[in-house]
Amino acid sequence: MMTRREWMMGPAAAGAVRLAAAQPRNIVIASVNGERACAKAMEILQAGGDTLDAVVAGVAINEDDPEDTTVGYGGLPNEEGIVELDASVMHGPTRRAGAVAGLRGIRHPAQVARLVMERTDHVMLVGEGALRFAKAYGFQEENLLTEKARLAWLVWKQSLRDASGRNNWTDGLDAPPEKSPQALRQRFPHVDEATLAWAWQVATNPPTGTINCLALNAKGEMSGVTTTSGLAWKIPGRVGDSPIIGAGLFVDQDVGAAGATGRGEENIRVAGAHTIVEAMRAGMHPREACLECLKRIARNFNNDRSRLAAFDITFYALRKDGAYGSASLWRSRDKEGRPRPQRFAVNDGTGSRLEDCAWLLER
Ligand code: ASP
Repeated sequence: MMTRREWMMGPAAAGAVRLAAAQPRNIVIASVNGERACAKAMEILQAGGDTLDAVVAGVAINEDDPEDTTVGYGGLPNEEGIVELDASVMHGPTRRAGAVAGLRGIRHPAQVARLVMERTDHVMLVGEGALRFAKAYGFQEENLLTEKARLAWLVWKQSLRDASGRNNWTDGLDAPPEKSPQALRQRFPHVDEATLAWAWQVATNPPTGTINCLALNAKGEMSGVTTTSGLAWKIPGRVGDSPIIGAGLFVDQDVGAAGATGRGEENIRVAGAHTIVEAMRAGMHPREACLECLKRIARNFNNDRSRLAAFDITFYALRKDGAYGSASLWRSRDKEGRPRPQRFAVNDGTGSRLEDCAWLLER
């Protein structure tokens, strides 16, 4: 666990301290992959648009981007090589919510989640039902698995070994001996080194990744969205925290909004976003509220650093008065040993920038 001194120094050392604004203002925050999303959302806010229109349009950039392998089109697939998406939205002014989970073949799950909110008497649709609903509203079904994501999936399948070191997806016993990951070069001769190294990395350390985006406008209205392809190589049907209202996203128009990225299972067990909004309601700064929630996660592991080291999770919070903050479970170090905090995206109308997250523990 972090020492008392680290606890006191952490956020300040990370440069994460920002004073709360007295009045609502246009402001958008997002996970680290959200600089473009924040800029798009801000453009809509500045034009007088609705906060939910703003964040849903913002994250559509990531959903469309094949290079963001954690969201929408190009997301890393489940263990069967099928991309399954989760998303949720909350609209502060109307206090409504919508979500989809395990949605296949539709690249904009956040937009489908919004339609669930607006056009049904339900809050969440999953799997086949969510797909049929999306198609009923004219969404096009398509193959969301890019060649890059398919490569990573194949590498993952080939990286698995039984006790005697065998794997049916690798060369047969009659083939010349090989060593992973070097053997990848022979198996995928057409793929460049950087892509192969990335594929090996994600195959052997199944990544999480998501975009959460929260907005406040000058009228004090708030909305939020979280959209993701979830945990890479998951069991088909696995649902993370992102579409769970109160875990991956929560907005209370009276208080503020919160969201999360990272290992969803741990977030669900502390109802993270709701916990953070309640902590802000009780008077905490958004950053402190995020840290409070991380402490609950650590408590679920009896504060055992060795077990907590197996994952990371980051929370984001935006208060109704414009104060905002973010905190991750871990702050890591680069190869030279320099502290390397997680980062999050902010746009207050002066362009998108990344700021350091506070942290609970240090590697
Ligand atoms: N929270 C997402 C999930 O567990 C993944 C992520 O944010 O990295 O599905």
